[in-house]
Amino acid sequence: TRERMQETVGGSSLARSFGALFASKPKLDEDLLDEIETVLLTADVGVKATTQLIEDLRRRMKAGDFRDAADLVSVLRSELRVLLVPVAKPLVIDPEARPFVILTVGVNGVGKTTTIGKLAKRFQDEGHSLMLAAGDTFRAAAVEQLKVWGERNNVPVIAQGQNADAASVAFDALQSAKSRGTQVLIADTAGRLHTQSGLMDELGKIRRVLGKLDPKAPHEVLMVIDGTTGQNALNQLRQFHAAAGVTGLVVTKLDGTAKGGVLFALAREFQLPIRFVGLGEKLEDLRVFDPDGFVDALLP
Ligand code: GDP
Repeated sequence: TRERMQETVGGSSLARSFGALFASKPKLDEDLLDEIETVLLTADVGVKATTQLIEDLRRRMKAGDFRDAADLVSVLRSELRVLLVPVAKPLVIDPEARPFVILTVGVNGVGKTTTIGKLAKRFQDEGHSLMLAAGDTFRAAAVEQLKVWGERNNVPVIAQGQNADAASVAFDALQSAKSRGTQVLIADTAGRLHTQSGLMDELGKIRRVLGKLDPKAPHEVLMVIDGTTGQNALNQLRQFHAAAGVTGLVVTKLDGTAKGGVLFALAREFQLPIRFVGLGEKLEDLRVFDPDGFVDALLP
């Protein structure tokens, strides 16, 4: 896996697969559809979305809609686009909200803490005042990571001792942000596996206490998903969505993966806004999701 990761860093191997497929100037036949199907499935586009795409291409091929492979590519491009465009909705900070509260959720290791740092930097660069709440109280390292980040960037971080109640951290932070007139509050949460029902209770409790201080808070429940985990990502989202009412997604680690197709599966199944994508570990590697750019990068 490591070799594979390294091999594909800096370029999507999904794009490479399509590139190789069409560079051979394929004939318009069942074999071509079969190969496209394999590429889509391998990239984690998912069985449902893939079947739908292939059936449509087959129908059009039989109807004589394509003169050559280039025609087919352009139809495939527009169909992939149609899946993604509706979910490309950037996160807009409501200026009336003081603060605009973003609750970040997701399982450990997906890049949640890194994403909070990247988001905070982005909002700071846009001129918003910020505060962070260290709500992942189960991992001392996560609290430390946020504190260090906050010190380095001059952003207040509200934290309590280890194993503190995450809802109490969130409540404190919102109270403090309100009194300071902070514009954006980003709250971290624990990322233990979704099979532990305690996590779901905890997220519900955090939501409730935030709502006591501001009925509209949290304004955004942002779920961070690791784009390399394929269909597993869909299960995670299903669970967190049921527990926390997810309103937006960040899909990380789309650099160096052949699995970028999970975006199509996510879009098709949930229709939840994809706010940002993570394309690396550096601060500037968090990008607003651009469906046209994404699809263009995939197809020749
Ligand atoms: P958390 O457990 O969800 O808080 O995850 P972390 O933020 O600690 O990140 C886990 C690992 O993923 C770290 O090594 C990050 O540098 C890395 N990471 C996060 N986002 C990205 C991304 O978009 N691309 C890549 N390649 N690595 C990322």
